[in-house]
Amino acid sequence: MSAAGDPRKTLVVALCGGVGGAKLALGLSRVVPGADLMVVANTGDDFEHLGLAISPDLDTIMYTLAGLADPRRGWGRRDETWTFMAALAALGGETWFALGDGDLATHLERTRRRAAGEALSAITADFCRRLKIATRLVPMTDDTVRTRLRTDMGWLDFQDYFVRRRCAPTVLEVAYDGAARARAHPDVLAALRDPRLRAIVICPSNPFLSIEPILAVGALREAIAGSAAPVVAVSPIIAGRAVKGPTAKMMSALGLEVSARAVARRYRDLLDAYVLDRADAAAVAELGIPVTLAHTLMTTLADREELARHVLASADAVAKATA
Ligand code: GDP
Repeated sequence: MSAAGDPRKTLVVALCGGVGGAKLALGLSRVVPGADLMVVANTGDDFEHLGLAISPDLDTIMYTLAGLADPRRGWGRRDETWTFMAALAALGGETWFALGDGDLATHLERTRRRAAGEALSAITADFCRRLKIATRLVPMTDDTVRTRLRTDMGWLDFQDYFVRRRCAPTVLEVAYDGAARARAHPDVLAALRDPRLRAIVICPSNPFLSIEPILAVGALREAIAGSAAPVVAVSPIIAGRAVKGPTAKMMSALGLEVSARAVARRYRDLLDAYVLDRADAAAVAELGIPVTLAHTLMTTLADREELARHVLASADAVAKATA
């Protein structure tokens, strides 16, 4: 891609879920300086457990950007210890949701500050400052949104489905309780209107569990659609398969084709460009929007950076073509 970007356009907004999204967010953080990158995190997976306020996607992104993430699992902290879980099990406590000792500090401190009246976004910004993360990490809203799933076992809370039941139930419908009346974070709305905005990136996250909860937040989808900046998504499906997690299984249960193309259709009204894996070259002609091919399986840090550069170049090419 040859299009050089407009030097006045420095800001990038990325919509992001957990593990898959955080990989690209890390790549973007290495090519977009400091606070010019805003990562908007899904909070539809947030829940209360053992009296603690837990924000799994925010924490996955925060640990990833801070270099603290466990490289093997993708979630939680590296070099974690599990004394708390062992002690809890010995007391007959609930152990279906694993909380490492270091991770526990994040949840305890967040819970304490929430109870004292601080907003999730303010606590997140302060944690990021202390962990020396220059990227701006912002929850999609400070209001409560809860992803719930109608399954063959009835309506389930997200973590009940995802962790406790290991995605075994068949998903028939997905709902984002509270999303319609939730207010998008004002900094996100301001960034989407900012004339310096270069690109809006939809990370390769689960469409139903990570991206659509963000888009469902009141006014956010409209603000993205109305933004002057190009919107570019990266497919989380490579050659008809999810890299990990229930994306593919959910797509087939919901009656959708399991393909990169079907993901693009869900975002169609928003997308200006789409990045597909080279394995999916055959789908290129059918989408009706500019499509570029890349190596999208992010195994190494270099993969993450290279895909981030490719995504931004795709956005710059769209901006140049429409200027
Ligand atoms: P999680 O559900 O909390 O793990 O987080 P996400 O929703 O952000 O990520 C899940 C999605 O990321 C799945 O659909 C995976 O297929 C996708 N994914 C994970 N790693 C990669 C990768 O290296 N490349 C691409 N293109 N997708 C990935």
